[in-house]
Amino acid sequence: MAQRHLRAVADGDLNPLDIGLRDVVGTSARTLERARGIRTVGQLLDWLPRTYLDPARPTAFRDLPHGEDVVVVGTVRAATTHQMRNRRGRRLVVEVADDAGGTIELTFFKPFGHQDRLRPGVRVVCSGQVGVWRETLQLTHPDYATLGEDGEGGAQWLLDGLVPVYTATKGLSPIVHGQCLELVLHHVEQLRDPVPEEVRREVGLPGLLEAYRLVHRPRTEADHRRGRWRLKFTEAFTVQAQLARVRRSAEAVPARPRVPAVDGLGARLRHRLPFELTAGQEAVLAELLDDLARTVPMHRLLQGEVGSGKTVLALLAMLAVVDSGGQAALLAPTEVLAAQHHRSMSQMLGPIAEAGLLGGLAEGTRISLLTGSQSTGERRASLLAAASGEAGIVIGTHALIQQHVQFADLAMVVVDEQHRFGVEQRDALRAKAPEGTAPHVLVMTATPIPRTVAMTVYGDMEISTLRELPGGRRPIHTFVVDGQRPDWVRRTWERVAEEVRGGGQVYVVCPRIGEVDDPDLPGTGGAGPGLPTGSVPVSGGTTGDDGADLLGAPDGPGAAPPALHGVHQVARCLRGLAATRELTIEVLHGRMPAEDKDAVMVAFAAGRVDVVVSTTVIEVGVDVPDATTMVLLDADRFGISQLHQLRGRVGRGGRPGLALLLTQGEGVDPGAVERLEQVAATTDGFELARLDLESRREGDVLGASQSGGRSGLRFLRLARDEELIVQAHEAAWRTVEADPELERHPALVEALTRLDAARAAFLERG
Ligand code: ADP
Ligand code: MG
Repeated sequence: MAQRHLRAVADGDLNPLDIGLRDVVGTSARTLERARGIRTVGQLLDWLPRTYLDPARPTAFRDLPHGEDVVVVGTVRAATTHQMRNRRGRRLVVEVADDAGGTIELTFFKPFGHQDRLRPGVRVVCSGQVGVWRETLQLTHPDYATLGEDGEGGAQWLLDGLVPVYTATKGLSPIVHGQCLELVLHHVEQLRDPVPEEVRREVGLPGLLEAYRLVHRPRTEADHRRGRWRLKFTEAFTVQAQLARVRRSAEAVPARPRVPAVDGLGARLRHRLPFELTAGQEAVLAELLDDLARTVPMHRLLQGEVGSGKTVLALLAMLAVVDSGGQAALLAPTEVLAAQHHRSMSQMLGPIAEAGLLGGLAEGTRISLLTGSQSTGERRASLLAAASGEAGIVIGTHALIQQHVQFADLAMVVVDEQHRFGVEQRDALRAKAPEGTAPHVLVMTATPIPRTVAMTVYGDMEISTLRELPGGRRPIHTFVVDGQRPDWVRRTWERVAEEVRGGGQVYVVCPRIGEVDDPDLPGTGGAGPGLPTGSVPVSGGTTGDDGADLLGAPDGPGAAPPALHGVHQVARCLRGLAATRELTIEVLHGRMPAEDKDAVMVAFAAGRVDVVVSTTVIEVGVDVPDATTMVLLDADRFGISQLHQLRGRVGRGGRPGLALLLTQGEGVDPGAVERLEQVAATTDGFELARLDLESRREGDVLGASQSGGRSGLRFLRLARDEELIVQAHEAAWRTVEADPELERHPALVEALTRLDAARAAFLERG
C-alpha cells in the first residue's frame, strides 16, 4: 500500500475503506474500475459473493452440470498443442483429472504462456463454464491458478473453507478477483466501525473487518451468514441512527400546544356529519388531538386505504387548530386534488366555513384555495385570507410552503399523500410558523406501508393506521383480460357501455399521454383499444408526475419499443367504436392546463361525462361516487401498489366496483401477469404492499441512490429482514438518546455524513 495512504489512515484523515484500489492491488484496479466502477477498498469489499462452492464436497468431474460456472481442482495429466485444421493458429488442450479419476479438458486457442504453467503433475484450480465436445467435458479458456508446493500461484485461499463465487466480470478472472481480495483483506488492519462497541457486544456482532472476512473467506455456511447479517446490521443501524437524529432535531424547535374548544368548530362539524366515526377513527382522532396539545411538534403519518376516512379526521384536526386560534394548511400532490379537497371540504363544512358570508356561521372560519393556475385576482384574495388569518384552512399544492405565502399563525400542516419533508422543506415550514415555533405536521397516505418500510423510511414519524373501511369493504371485482384475445377485448368495451347504461361511470387508464396525432389503433375487427398497438413510439409521450415513472427505462438500443396505449389514441378509438360511440368521452392528463383538468373532473363528478380516458393523474384521492368501473390498459406495466391505488377510485359509492386489467398482449412478462393475478385475488392493501415489496428493489422503495456507492441500502432486504431492522432500530435510538451529539461515536458520525451526502445527491437528481 502506498506510504501516503498508510500515513493518512494512521492520522485518521482517511477512512481505510476509501483507499484507492490501485494502491493495493495494482493493475487489476483498472479492470475493476472499468467493468464495475469499483475504485476503493470499501467498494471491493462491498461487492459480495453471489454464492459459495464447497470443495469439501467436490463434484466429481463426471457429474459437473453442463453449462454452469464451476470452480474445480485437479491435477494436470497431459498438455498437447494441436495445429488447427481450418484456421491458422494452434490450440492447447490440457487434460486435468480429479481424485476420482474423472477428466476434464481445458482448451486454449492462444496457448502462449499456458504451456509453461500447465505442466503434467501440477495441481490446478480452474473456473469456467462447463461445455461438452465430442463427449468430453471441457472448460474453454478457463481462469486458473496453479498450486505449487510452496503456495506459489497464490491460490491457497481457494482450498480453505468455501469458495466464494462472484458475478462474472469481463476481463477479470475469478481467480485474479480473489487475489485482489486477498491483498485487501490482508492490508487493511482496522476499520472504523459505525456500530459502537457496546452495541456490538450486546447484539453479538463480529467486528466490521471480521464480517468482511467471514463473507469473502468463510470456512462454513454459518460464517458467511454471520458476516452478511453483520453488514446488514451496519446498514440498518446507520439509517436508524439518522432517523433518530432527524427526529431529535425536529423536536428541537417547539410547537405551540393547540387545544380545541369543547363546543368549537370540530364539535359542530361532528354534528353535521351524516355518519358516526368508527371506533378506529375515534382512536386515531384521539391520537391527533393528543399530539396537537403537546409542545413537541406532531410528526405523524396516518395510513389507511382509500376511503378509510382519513380526510374527515384531518379536517377535524385542522378545526381543532382553528378553534385554538391557529391556521392549518393542507398540501395536495396535484392541483386536481387540491381543487377536489377544497370542494369536498367546503361542502362538508357548509356554514362553518362561511364566516362573514350571508348564512355563514359568525364564529366560523374560511377555507381558501391557492394554486398556481388561479387568476391573479383569485390568488390575491387567497393570499390575503391566509396572511390576515381570515382563512383558518388554506388548501394548495406544495407551492404553498415554497412560495411567498404568509400565514397569520400557521399551526398545522397536513400533507396529503406521502410527501417526505427534507430538511429544507422543514425549514420552509418553520419559517411560515410564528417565530421560534414549528408547526404540527400530519402526513396522510393511502398506500399501506409494511412495517419494515415504515421503520426504515418513516422511522422518524409516529404512525397511525386505519385498518377498516367505514361501513365495511365495498367489493371491487377485478379481472385480468388477455389483450391478445379480440373477443375478450371487445367484451370489455361492451361491458363499459353496459355499465354506463346502468348509471355507472368509467375510468380508462393508459400508461402514456401520447400525441394528439398519434396513428390510429389497428382496426382489429372493431374490438377496440387493448389489443397490441403495433409500434407506437414510447418516447415523448409522458411527462412529469404523469405516468412517466411507470414506464421504466427503455430497453436499450436495438430493442423494439413497447407498444403502449396513449390517452389521445384510445379516446379517439373509443369515440369511433360501435360499443362506445354514443358515450360522452373526455380525456384527462397532466399536460392539460389546470382549469381544463378541473373542468373535466367537475363534469365527471356531476355525471355529465360517462368515460374519462386518463393517465395516472387520477391515481390519488380522486373521489367520484358513481364511478363504478375502471379499465386499465397495458396493466402489466403498472406495479402492484399502483394498480391497487388506481382501482380504489371505483366503487366508492354504494355500488360495487369493477376493475378490468388488460394485459399488453405480445411478449408480456409472465411475472407481470402473475402480479396482476395477485392484485385480482385480494383487496387487502397490506397484503399487496407486502407482495409489492418483495417484487421491488430496495432502491425503489427508499428512493435511495441506485448507484449505491457505500451509502445506499446494499445489503438490507426490507421484505425479509424485519427482526434485524427492529433490533437495529432499538439499538440506534438508544445510542442517539444516550449521546445526542454522538460525541463518543465519530465513526457513526462519519457514516451518517456519507448517508446524508448520498441522499442529497439523490434529491438533486430528482
Ligand atoms: P380517505 O381520505 O381515507 O380516502 P375519506 O375521508 O375521503 O377517506 O372517506 C371516504 C368516504 O367515506 C367519504 O365520503 C366520507 O365522507 C365517508 N366516511 C368517512 N368516515 C365515515 C364513517 N365513519 N362512516 C361512514 N362514512 C364515512
Ligand atoms: Mg383522501
